[in-house]
Amino acid sequence: RLVLGIETSCDDTGAAVLDETGAILGESLNSQKEVHLRTGGIIPTVAQQLHRENIERVVQEALERSSVAPGQLSAVATTVKPGLALSLGIGLEFSLRFVRQHNKPFIPIHHMEAHALTVRMLQPVAFPFLVLLVSGGHSLLAVARGVDDFLLLGHTLDEAPGDTLDKVARRLSLIKHPQCSTLSGGQAIELLAKDGDRTRFPFTTPMGQTYDCCFSFAGLRNQVTMTIMKQEAEEGVKQGTLLTCVNDIAAATQHTVASHLAKRTHRAILFCKAKGLLPSSSPTLVVSGGVASNQYIRKALMIITEMTGLHLLCPPAKFCTDNGVMIAWNGLERLREGKGILPPNVDVCYEPKAPLGVDISAEVKAAAIRLPS
Ligand code: ATP
Ligand code: FE
Repeated sequence: RLVLGIETSCDDTGAAVLDETGAILGESLNSQKEVHLRTGGIIPTVAQQLHRENIERVVQEALERSSVAPGQLSAVATTVKPGLALSLGIGLEFSLRFVRQHNKPFIPIHHMEAHALTVRMLQPVAFPFLVLLVSGGHSLLAVARGVDDFLLLGHTLDEAPGDTLDKVARRLSLIKHPQCSTLSGGQAIELLAKDGDRTRFPFTTPMGQTYDCCFSFAGLRNQVTMTIMKQEAEEGVKQGTLLTCVNDIAAATQHTVASHLAKRTHRAILFCKAKGLLPSSSPTLVVSGGVASNQYIRKALMIITEMTGLHLLCPPAKFCTDNGVMIAWNGLERLREGKGILPPNVDVCYEPKAPLGVDISAEVKAAAIRLPS
């Protein structure tokens, strides 16, 4: 079995051809990050135009590098939800044309399902397992019970942690920092935090009085912004000037994000144990998404998994962020189980908003599990 995976849900145009063992036969990725870094965030019409300009070449490259002709493919898998409407539309339109032209089955992919399953391409991980996905657009905790069977324990109520880190980095003008000019907000904050004192600005960990597994980062961003304004006043500088305390602000922000993620994850583990949702022998927590490449956050999660006896798995950074590989792998997983495979002449719509699996966050909240202090 050979599957071509296509990803355009946000700001990366990605394509890859995989075989059923998970071997990557060929891949290509066009990242728009630099463009969006310059404009201070993703402008959907710009992202759409860049996907349009690159999709054909990226898919061609993936096919050429894999030495696989379209006729040899078993199916084409493409992200159709969730994501930016204008971006999703380009990948979907291209894919539908492609499958019709080559008479191939089409497998629509949920972007977060793909993030959650990527780990199984790298090593054997049996269902069910707990998964924490943290990226620029998402923040969720779910039990993966099967390829297309997820229980959503918690999700963000406002923004995603990567988005928060990007906005804080922008407010701090970290792009002007000599070490950070080419880094994403999250990477810049991780780097600067290494030389920072996280105790200088004691931010409050969000949702301390809500005993569920949902996330909130907007309040933290507000706390950080207030602190930045105060520091600008104290240093007598205008907004846009690099503050002398950027390292300390970065360290405190990163610490609070890590603490929030760790606490919600800890509660999710306790909930799963109480409800028997995870296997009793070697239960696993999988962490993925761009923010999961943060070593400080990984360490915080490791403390929790060691405390609760879970096995922690984080795919390497290259597989934590968006690419065509994870979409192709998800296609192979679905193909193996015969789930969600559509004929070439099908009409599929993209869905900008789409929750992953069955949402049981209200049940988790009702259980009101307190964490040990
Ligand atoms: P989504 O996958 O939700 O559609 P996305 O494409 O923005 O969103 P990713 O490419 O998985 O997500 O991740 C990008 C995000 O990860 C950015 O917000 C970036 O700041 C953050 N990030 C990248 N590296 C790090 C790091 N080392 N520490 C913290 N955050 C990071
Ligand atoms: Fe993603």
